Amino acid sequence: VAKRKGKNQAVFYEFSMNEDAMKRFELESYLNKALDYDEFELYYQPQIEVESGRVVGVEALIRWNHPKLGIVSPNVFLDIAEESNLIMQIGEWVLKTACQMGKMWIDAGYEPIKIGVNLSAKQFLQHDLADLISNTLKETGLPPSLLNLEITETVSVNDAKLVISILEQLRAIGIEISVDDFGTGYSSLAYLKDFPVNTLKIDQMFIRELEKDSQHQAIVNATIYLAHALNLRVVGEAVETKEQLLFLKEKGCDEIQGYYLSKPLPATKMTTYLKDYAEGKVPFDLFLKA
Ligand code: C2E
Ligand code: MG
Ligand code: MG
Ligand code: MG
Repeated sequence: VAKRKGKNQAVFYEFSMNEDAMKRFELESYLNKALDYDEFELYYQPQIEVESGRVVGVEALIRWNHPKLGIVSPNVFLDIAEESNLIMQIGEWVLKTACQMGKMWIDAGYEPIKIGVNLSAKQFLQHDLADLISNTLKETGLPPSLLNLEITETVSVNDAKLVISILEQLRAIGIEISVDDFGTGYSSLAYLKDFPVNTLKIDQMFIRELEKDSQHQAIVNATIYLAHALNLRVVGEAVETKEQLLFLKEKGCDEIQGYYLSKPLPATKMTTYLKDYAEGKVPFDLFLKA
């Protein structure tokens, strides 16, 4: 029985592998046309400064609206895009769209906010990244100081000198850099000391169950302390509960982002949110009070 069971499992496994491969192939061929068909959309999630309760930024998060599949999560399609060079074109589209949106909010008279844009490791290492960034800023009119690029620790598996030189080129443009998903990747403390970045975003795995998990509390506490000792700002992301928020506030976390404050919103809804906020209808000080 055991043998047969093993055999069945093997057959099943093979079948699901094929199915995955087919799905992947199908997705890849759809994905090739998604830009042309205008199927990508950026959602924006507000970032709140803990001390002041002000909306200080938004993170742009890509969505793929496929006519048959529905909304496809970036975790599913970005890996596929990364294997081909499609990630470069998608990345350019994201950058331009996010900068345009940021400029529109400025022109509409809202308080200037930082626009966070995620970069894949491959995009980060493309040879003309600094040119692409400065051209996009010029073209869209977004002030450089309002662009915040989010990179992950994956980039640091590469030649540290190269990474530092790219970061310095980006800094020279006047933009900000955040290390996303901090604490789960490859960066050593030595890198952190040498890399010219502005902000650490604590990975959401440490925020999850923060209220119950004393090890997560220790890690978050130490990360905030370390960041501040190195003159970096800290963002807590995926904050879902008041308890998590109050813990981060007590430990001096600079900014927070998460479903507790707002889910990522389509552009029009984000604009409404900024409008409501400007009119005092989104009172974060209430959320932030103990
Ligand atoms: P990330 O940059 O770490 O983004 C944060 C993720 O957490 C987002 O998932 C966001 O929707 C989600 N999130 C925000 N608040 C909460 C919360 O309170 N609870 C929980 N459970 N989740 C929350 P999303 O939008 O599915 O994006 C997943 C990842 O895909 C991103 O992780 C980022 O690495 C990547 N990504 C998204 N958009 C882009 C893009 O335009 N370019 C690149 N290169 N990567 C992107
Ligand atoms: Mg991010
Ligand atoms: Mg993250
Ligand atoms: Mg992530």
